[in-house]
Amino acid sequence: MLLRVLMRLRRFFLFLGASLCCGSQLVAQKPAADLIITNAKIWTVDKARPQAEALAVMGDRIIAVGSANEMDAWHGPQTKVLDAKGKLLLPGFNDAHVHFVGGGSHLQEVQLKDADSPEEFARRIGERAKATPKGEWITGGDWDEQRWSPPNLPTKELIDALTPNTPVWVNRHDGHESLANSVTLRLANITAKTPDPPGGQIVHDAQGNPTGVLRDAATNLVDKVMPPISRARRLRAIHQALEHAASLGVTSVQDKNPPYEDVKAYAELEEQGELTVRMYVAPMETDWKDQAKIGVRHAFGTSLLRMGAVKGYADGSLGSETAYFFDPYTDDPKSHGLLSDEMHPPSAMLARLKGADAAGLQLCVHAIGDRGISMILDFYEQIEKANGKRDRRWRIEHSQHLAAKDFARYARLGVIASVQPYHAIDDGRWAEKRIGTDRIKRTYAFRTFLDNGVRLAFGTDWPVAPLSPMWGIYAAVTRATLDGKNPDGWVPEEKIGVAEAIKAYTLESAYAEFQDKEKGSITSGKLADFVILSDDIFKIPPTAIKNVKVEATYLGGKLVYGGLE
Ligand SMILES: [Zn+2]
Repeated sequence: MLLRVLMRLRRFFLFLGASLCCGSQLVAQKPAADLIITNAKIWTVDKARPQAEALAVMGDRIIAVGSANEMDAWHGPQTKVLDAKGKLLLPGFNDAHVHFVGGGSHLQEVQLKDADSPEEFARRIGERAKATPKGEWITGGDWDEQRWSPPNLPTKELIDALTPNTPVWVNRHDGHESLANSVTLRLANITAKTPDPPGGQIVHDAQGNPTGVLRDAATNLVDKVMPPISRARRLRAIHQALEHAASLGVTSVQDKNPPYEDVKAYAELEEQGELTVRMYVAPMETDWKDQAKIGVRHAFGTSLLRMGAVKGYADGSLGSETAYFFDPYTDDPKSHGLLSDEMHPPSAMLARLKGADAAGLQLCVHAIGDRGISMILDFYEQIEKANGKRDRRWRIEHSQHLAAKDFARYARLGVIASVQPYHAIDDGRWAEKRIGTDRIKRTYAFRTFLDNGVRLAFGTDWPVAPLSPMWGIYAAVTRATLDGKNPDGWVPEEKIGVAEAIKAYTLESAYAEFQDKEKGSITSGKLADFVILSDDIFKIPPTAIKNVKVEATYLGGKLVYGGLE
């Protein structure tokens, strides 16, 4: 009897011991992945392991990268396993230069570019008017009357009856002319008696009444009475931009000179869990003290929303002949281009940049012409002398036309060339006429930058160029101009490889926002931002890269576009 009791007690203690033991095993057991993707062709952009077959995700982080077998250790009962069917998987794209709300607004605007007749033009504006909330304007459009026969400019009479209460202000595709309806003309106080402003023209009909078309400087008469964008419209634009970005595999963007209202809207969306693109915002350098006085430094914030950079302008653009050059324009020998308002005088710009740098803010300055770029490099040298050396990741936005001597200065100062390859195949159609045969050799000089040890961060300047990274990579690799006239590349010596272009669009743009330890490659411990493409851009002919589709976009381990099933 006693023996039986003792046996039972022993069994009980054995049981207790076993369960304690199992308990400690549970604690020691490796946690399981939420998601494993296998059978992928992963191009990691990680030097330590350039290629892999599978990855595992836990929460918003990558926890393992390697062979399918290596993922077994992370496989648990709740783990979702997806077969990528051998498709190419890349880190999510990081667009180093966008105007995000501008881009979203552009997507929302009435589309008139392919309206092939005045009737179709009017019909689309009429449709839009029905859907436009009271008080909002109809803008954008990009109409082109050259597609109509006869190619007469549109008039307000075409659309007035369809838009009795909605202000319309739609631009021609070249941006030099816009059409106003009668509501808009009234708001701008433009009548038959209004004189043409200097540099502008109000187009009149046979009776001397304004037709609604305003040219160049005359467009300011309307622009200045346009109300600021409403909160509802801003939010709609951001939602549309987020959706568009996800569909293109863009998981991070660096938003240049947004108004603070935009930043506020991003912050609200982050709070609501609706921000599906990581943002790094760089408000205008003229306002640098706003960030400095509350102690914000570079890359301050969360993994979804950061600030701490400032954006400035040194000069204008090549298209408008305002990029600032040492030598005059080839097609306008009297003009060297123009410095921006912020550079009047240059010493004032330097003082602000120096102050912003001393406060720990990152400097991103738009400079396009060789002389504009050189002046900013001079400033950076002086600021380094004044404020001492440190890891600053200075940037020159666009970095389009270089003086031969300046490549080495980028490298020495660690300045990042924040460039937009699409502009090369766009401007390449006419740039030579404007700046001649010598300067085009150092234009969009991506190869020379890399050969000089300069970091390239890729972006688009969206909505100036399309947001699609596939177009950007295509442009950098082929340099085939949009007019089809340079199938083997415009200034072909400056082409770069597919792997280099991907790196510039991922790890290097992450570096350009101080986030290369957090994202930009498929590396264990980094944020699980990645894309799966329809085709292998290493294998297909480079000319086909622009047609490649994104099949799935993951942000922090969550599917935000498409899918594998
Ligand atoms: Zn820009």
